[in-house]
Amino acid sequence: MLAWKKRKGQYGLVKTDCPIPKIKDTEVLVKVLATGICGTDFGIYKGYREVADGLTPGHEFIGEIVELGKDVAGYQVGDLVVPSIIQKCGTCPACIDGFEAQCENLREIGIHIDGSFAEYTAVPAVTLHKVGKDMDLKTGASIEPVAVAYSAVKKAEQFIPGKDVLIYGPGAIGLYTAQIAKIAGAGTILLAGTGADIERLALAKENYGVETINIEAEDIEAKMRDCFKHGKADLIFEATGVAQIIGDMLSKLRPHGELILVGVYHDSSEVNFLYAGRGELTIKGTFCYTLSEFESAIKLVEMGKINFDGIVDTIELENLDEGFEKTMSKQSIKIVAYHQ
Ligand SMILES: [Zn+2]
Ligand SMILES: [Zn+2]
Repeated sequence: MLAWKKRKGQYGLVKTDCPIPKIKDTEVLVKVLATGICGTDFGIYKGYREVADGLTPGHEFIGEIVELGKDVAGYQVGDLVVPSIIQKCGTCPACIDGFEAQCENLREIGIHIDGSFAEYTAVPAVTLHKVGKDMDLKTGASIEPVAVAYSAVKKAEQFIPGKDVLIYGPGAIGLYTAQIAKIAGAGTILLAGTGADIERLALAKENYGVETINIEAEDIEAKMRDCFKHGKADLIFEATGVAQIIGDMLSKLRPHGELILVGVYHDSSEVNFLYAGRGELTIKGTFCYTLSEFESAIKLVEMGKINFDGIVDTIELENLDEGFEKTMSKQSIKIVAYHQ
């Protein structure tokens, strides 16, 4: 079968022809029908996110079960499934506390075990979620990042209705976060991006009715005075993954405001905490989702509450490397790869 693999020390991924994986008793074999490229995959592709030599990345996907391990119950061959990325151990302190995403022995599909940039993937049955047979494939492959955004919005300690929300980063996660914050009843939502994001900002403005700003061309302080009730944000979602801009964000919050870090940060950054202390701000991280949040995200998508128009472009799995280059250069927001 066709599988893309990471070779240590080498830029990009290598297209290989390898055997269909053999499943363990607790796993299922899934025929990958569509798979999305995530920001985490950029790190693997470029090499700053280290993974095992020979790993097949890919964790945003929808597929059809073609074989069941002998200990697997509750699923049938032919079921359409969307696996959540996290496989918890179930026995460590974090698991016992109910925080599976912080499991000390966390194994993530496409990071610690082979993922979906292949025709078939063997995944632990415990990560599976069934979806309706009529699920559109492009949409199904996009549920995982929707779940990330859903969990981020749920992290807000403030009751969101009526609150003014600033979101940095109009990538797929930022665009889903904007939509979910809106569903949750946010007051004004201001989505911030740079000159390279102009088309995405226009899309968000038109499709979700949010305010937008190109921070390279406009003054964000003036814009906030213009569109937020109290001139500053009650809540900020940081969805760029750029650590260096976090310090600056604290000054954009009202006293008792919250900054929620949705990005995955590989760099360190200098932060002046003056505003954080005086304003009694809350800074919160978010990572993946709980399994129940993943189920809620599926429901939101199945109910047609998330608008995917203009977000997802498609490509053949064979040309996955082109998809990477297109998303990394911001020609596409999100690429979903199919295999015929
Ligand atoms: Zn992802
Ligand atoms: Zn654990």
